[in-house]
Amino acid sequence: MNQHIHCIVSDCNYWNQGNMCKASEILVSTDDFGASKPDRIDAIMAKQLTPASAGTCMATCCKTYVAKGSDKVGADSVTRMS
Ligand code: SF4
Repeated sequence: MNQHIHCIVSDCNYWNQGNMCKASEILVSTDDFGASKPDRIDAIMAKQLTPASAGTCMATCCKTYVAKGSDKVGADSVTRMS
């Protein structure tokens, strides 16, 4: 359930008024993971992924982020909830 995910990244496809995330699910990862894995590897595969340490807040990212209007929307099978 993501009713409690607050986010202030306003150009994300899943961002909504009130600074809420409307993604059906999200994946938070290390920056290294986010930068090196293709868009299709995301929250839907979470149970198969290997956890890793980040060390600092700044070394984590939202892997589910995709810019509004990008042709990558939907590549990870994450959906936007109404
Ligand atoms: S998918 Fe990530 S970046 Fe996008 S609105 Fe949700 S939490 Fe923010």
